[in-house]
Amino acid sequence: MPLSLKPLFRLIVPLLLLFAAIISLNHLTEIRSDYVKLLNLLPYGLFVIVLGLSHYFNRSRFFAAALLMGMAFWLIQNRLQTSLEAQLPLYLFTAMSILLPLGLALLTAIPERGLWNRHGFLAILAGPMLLGAACVFVSSSEAPQLQTLVQSMPLKPFPGLIMSLYASVWMGLMILVGLFFLLRRNAEAEASLTLCIVFSFITLAKFDQPLISSIMFSATGLTMILGLLKSSFEMAYQDELTGLLGRRALNEKLSGLGNRYAIAMIDIDHFKKFNDTHGHDVGDDVLKVVANHIAETTGGGIPYRYGGEEFCVVFPGKSLKPCIPHLEAVREAIGSHRITLRDRKNRPKSAQTGAQKRAGTRTKARQGKTVSVTISIGVAERTDVVDMPDQVMKNADKALYKAKQNGRNCTVL
Ligand code: GH3
Ligand code: MG
Ligand code: MG
Repeated sequence: MPLSLKPLFRLIVPLLLLFAAIISLNHLTEIRSDYVKLLNLLPYGLFVIVLGLSHYFNRSRFFAAALLMGMAFWLIQNRLQTSLEAQLPLYLFTAMSILLPLGLALLTAIPERGLWNRHGFLAILAGPMLLGAACVFVSSSEAPQLQTLVQSMPLKPFPGLIMSLYASVWMGLMILVGLFFLLRRNAEAEASLTLCIVFSFITLAKFDQPLISSIMFSATGLTMILGLLKSSFEMAYQDELTGLLGRRALNEKLSGLGNRYAIAMIDIDHFKKFNDTHGHDVGDDVLKVVANHIAETTGGGIPYRYGGEEFCVVFPGKSLKPCIPHLEAVREAIGSHRITLRDRKNRPKSAQTGAQKRAGTRTKARQGKTVSVTISIGVAERTDVVDMPDQVMKNADKALYKAKQNGRNCTVL
């Protein structure tokens, strides 16, 4: 499947937050001292909310990241509010610029497997382990090799940048790691954690700016809260396999439609036979391909996975006829798409190990061996007589049945 840049859209709102944070930094020079105290407590409050939400939604990586960021913020507030020329702060700052982005990038790379199990515990341990590593780094500040290393990473390599050049490049690399996993998995956690690295980068790069850590770490907390809420919305409304909206979203849409709309029911032809011939895993891959085409429906059609190998496209504000070319375009695109088969020789027998394998690496595509599927479509519209969405859907279903009887791979009104 070609690489899509769509996951990058997940960065838009947090980036707006980043701009707001940068702008607010310039306006906080005159702030009253009691507000400063409050501002310095804000990140802790936000991280506690992240911890609570992560527990509630069973999200280990957000939980671990909030702990890690909380620890880093405590260190900044209690150990680094002093000149970085002194030895201990210098070593701690250097350790933080290496270990904090490393920890966040690791959390971005590992898959989400829930919080209160051994995978979750391992993720949670990342923070304390990195803190331990930072302590060892700082307490070994007399070691000659370490001194040579830190000396080779001088702070303030040029005006406007506090962090050393090597640490900046390292952080840039860790941001690229985060972006890689965001593009690969297209999930909220990857977007939020990548942004955490960016916020940490700005904090350490502009470390001499008053209140920067409080503002940037608060922005991190807000980004994680938004990410958690958005991912829980996706859990509730999106179908996991295809990424399309599911039945719950469809039911909400149907209940809010106006006086004019059309509904199309779509069903893959002979899909049972396809599964029997090529296996359920190949069937799932094909379902995703079909869903990707249906997701591209033009003409204002909103696609849903109705269930199994059935899809539904709702055209709000449209009568039946103008929808046909848009549906026909989807049907033709699916029918002419040659899907390359993967080598399933070593396919696991059970569904469970199959799911585990799916989460891991794919076997190489067998060159040249391709398959294709077709779809049948039934469409109906709201009329003065048929004026309830469930009746319109029933009519679309009847039209779909006719399309199947007409030989399949066609659209029937
Ligand atoms: P028709 O052309 O009449 O629609 O024939 P069909 O075989 O597609 O129809 P039917 O509804 O009898 O079979 C649907 C099949 O779709 C049953 C099941 O094997 C397959 N299916 C449903 N959901 C999934 C899924 O999530 N993944 C896979 N791989 N197959 C599924
Ligand atoms: Mg069916
Ligand atoms: Mg079918």
